[in-house]
Amino acid sequence: MRWDEDTIQSVKDANDVVEFVSQHLPLKKSGSNFKALCPFHQEKTPSFMVNPARQIFHCFGCNTGGDIIRFVMLYEGLPFIEAVTKLAGRAGIELPRTGTGERPDREEKDQLFRANRIAAGYFNDILMKDREGEQARNYLGSRGIHSEACRIYGIGYALDEWRALAPVLKKEGLSLKESVGSGLLVQSEGKDPYDRFRNRIMFPIRDLSGRVLGFGGRVLDETLPKYVNTPETVIYHKGDSLFGIDIAAPYIREAEEVLLVEGYLDVIALHQAGIGNVVGVLGTALTQQQARRIRRLTTNCVLLFDADEAGRKAVMRSGEILLEEGFRCRVAPLDPGEDPDSYLQKKGPERLLEKTAQSLPIISFVLEDAREQFGEEGVDDRLKVLDAIVPYLAKIKDRVVLGLYLKEIGDELRIEQGDLRARLTSVKSRDQRRLKREQEPGPKLHRREELLLHIMVRDPVAAQKVKEQISPDDLESPELSKIVEKIFSGVTFDNLISSIDDRMKDLISGWALEDPIEGTDRALDDCLSWFAKRKLENSIQETKKKLHEAEKRGDEKEFGKLTRKWQELIKLMRKQKKTGSPTEDNGPATSPGGEALE
Ligand SMILES: [Zn+2]
Repeated sequence: MRWDEDTIQSVKDANDVVEFVSQHLPLKKSGSNFKALCPFHQEKTPSFMVNPARQIFHCFGCNTGGDIIRFVMLYEGLPFIEAVTKLAGRAGIELPRTGTGERPDREEKDQLFRANRIAAGYFNDILMKDREGEQARNYLGSRGIHSEACRIYGIGYALDEWRALAPVLKKEGLSLKESVGSGLLVQSEGKDPYDRFRNRIMFPIRDLSGRVLGFGGRVLDETLPKYVNTPETVIYHKGDSLFGIDIAAPYIREAEEVLLVEGYLDVIALHQAGIGNVVGVLGTALTQQQARRIRRLTTNCVLLFDADEAGRKAVMRSGEILLEEGFRCRVAPLDPGEDPDSYLQKKGPERLLEKTAQSLPIISFVLEDAREQFGEEGVDDRLKVLDAIVPYLAKIKDRVVLGLYLKEIGDELRIEQGDLRARLTSVKSRDQRRLKREQEPGPKLHRREELLLHIMVRDPVAAQKVKEQISPDDLESPELSKIVEKIFSGVTFDNLISSIDDRMKDLISGWALEDPIEGTDRALDDCLSWFAKRKLENSIQETKKKLHEAEKRGDEKEFGKLTRKWQELIKLMRKQKKTGSPTEDNGPATSPGGEALE
């Protein structure tokens, strides 16, 4: 962890969760809480609550909750460090630097951006001006790429040498650690560092503001590997960036649409043909992070991927992600074997524009694809087609759009609307269950232990009573035991919620926001007796086991001692039963909410 608890707390103290959330969602007062439609799941009546006293949020629909930091992380898709930094910046708090932390600080990032910028300029200069760049210039020329595009996209050439870039970076004052950290140099044990990229056309991958995050380096012929890329660094994450986004942004805003293609050369070819709203996904399929970056510019998307099996799969996967992220997504299928670059060279920009204008909605594309695959003669075939399309339908958030598709698909597959909707509902609930499972990895929590913690979180007086009778070790679930220990040690609720994992945040924020309810005392007493009983039963089992062992060994002294202990314990248990402690015989105990426990 980069910052200590006090620092995190001071950032939280300086930001009000209600004020922050209300800048993003229209909050309405509701009792001691504020409520709104949940931003994390689809709903028609608000179950998303924000509580000013506890400084937490919780959605009772999708059970997501936590403190303001978690809200920023989820709502803005930021990692922890960035969420805290954002909140600190907002409140004008200067975060302390901790030199030895695992997380890089701002200055280190800046140095990596600088290393990349210097390298990009160096590579570009060689390509544009040097005699040594001639072969690369010829290659790009043969691929139809003009020097103007090389300038705009900052394309370059890395010399066929092991130590060409290293001295350049050093001269610019970059340390070896920074040069290696940027991924530009490679250092293997006992050897001098050397250039990662050699004899390659260099494509800088930039962010929206034009900073160079990393590079893709392509060979000049067909030798393998065709591409060498910047490895994961503190500023470059695979699947997080989009090639050409800085150049395309104004065009995307103007066209209110983005064309997604697979590779660098596709992006450049389209740009040269006068189609500017194009970015490259640089991977097998679009990722959720990439979709979120695009969403800042537009929510209309046309997929223009290679017309091969890999491209088809990429369309399927990307389409699913785009629908899930609320995009309107269309697919422009090219002729078999073509990619946008080759298509442009053969048929020209007008024909390509025609293709994109004739693009199919992703749902129609998937439907057509499934019909081709399975046919639609028999009932079985039609069911297979239905199974292929329903997962996509389940991701459509706009009810009107969904209704239109259901009508169309029902007609085409000759399936009743009611049956279609039933199938859709079952897939949706399966998705939600899956999502929930993914979000809640850990083992099942013990119901009674959960209840104990539930009461403690809601009621500090009860927590004190629990502390007098129970030790954290009495809880079998390690997660809950740890939290109980924290509460016993007197941490504030704020600190508690910051320090637990997401699954526990979801759980505890929900408990803390429930309205006061009757019968907490009774529930607590029940719970404590149950723990006492379980403890006793465990001791009895333990003693019994030792008793058998002593008997086997023929240890008479020990056997006698254990027998007496066992008798004591049995007596205690009888007494407990008489005083009416809850046992299975006394009927099920209830939680404070009145829900029967298993
Ligand atoms: Zn929700």
